Amino acid sequence: MDPFSNKVDIPPARKSLGQNFLLDKTALNRIVSFLPSGSSGLVIEIGTGTGHLTKLLCGRFQSVVTIEKDDRLIEWLYHQGHLPENCRLIHKDVLEVSFVSIIKDMGCRKAVLAGNLPYNISSQIVFKLCAEQEVIPAALFLFQKEVAERITSSCSRKTYGVLSLVAQYFFDVKKVMDISPNLFRPRPKVVSSVVLFERKKAGPCTKCFHTFLRVVKAAFSQRRKKITNSLSHQLKIPKKDMAEILKNVGIDPSSRAGDISLEHFIFLSNTLGKTGKFHGRLA
Ligand code: SAH
Repeated sequence: MDPFSNKVDIPPARKSLGQNFLLDKTALNRIVSFLPSGSSGLVIEIGTGTGHLTKLLCGRFQSVVTIEKDDRLIEWLYHQGHLPENCRLIHKDVLEVSFVSIIKDMGCRKAVLAGNLPYNISSQIVFKLCAEQEVIPAALFLFQKEVAERITSSCSRKTYGVLSLVAQYFFDVKKVMDISPNLFRPRPKVVSSVVLFERKKAGPCTKCFHTFLRVVKAAFSQRRKKITNSLSHQLKIPKKDMAEILKNVGIDPSSRAGDISLEHFIFLSNTLGKTGKFHGRLA
């Protein structure tokens, strides 16, 4: 049966699984239109829900793999029988799957990700996207507006922090549209935003990401403190040495984490990573 037909009864939503179903065909079509035009092979969807977005993805991609954790929804989806032939439904927790393995199993080398995400695990999904970015050229996700702002924020804004830096290390990120709570069932309390992630062509080094993450987390663990103090304390590097390194990479030692750009954080963590003396502590 067509999922957009008025005759379809939607199962009651489970709050604990972040279920807010987006059923509006016009909004969904617009969302799908933001997927990069070059991508048409394989898409992995996170959170099948009632399968409305899934159906549109199936029309746009050769193959769709869609991941859903809720057994009750899996049963409902099979019963409705509206998932097209080019769709494979995986009954698992997305945080426990390997995108790399799924892509390999499908005989592909890369895949685009998409999904109206369960909002309680949004940040974890961004971290997972970064961990497996080598096989993911693009992703299109719905977040709570406030989370979308943190992801796309630039230096010196209130929303700038670990999530912005992690997302922007590998990806160009852009908020492409807002979606009114009225278009969801049940209606969430907040506005949602769609964010497009496009992997940077000449992105920074993959191997250095671990050190970058360690440095950024250390810097923001006390975001109001001077950067020299927070880094020297967290990374156990003497203050004098830390101030010297900061100066060498062009960062004012008395600045705060929120005023340091992505480029400066990359330069700093690469320098710390290369300094043999600190290597053991940062690994
Ligand atoms: N894409 C659908 C559903 C969005 S709601 C739509 O737009 O209508 C989020 C979906 O993610 C729900 O179906 C929920 O059951 C599922 N979900 C929640 N946590 C999950 C997890 N850890 N792994 C996989 N799916 C999950």
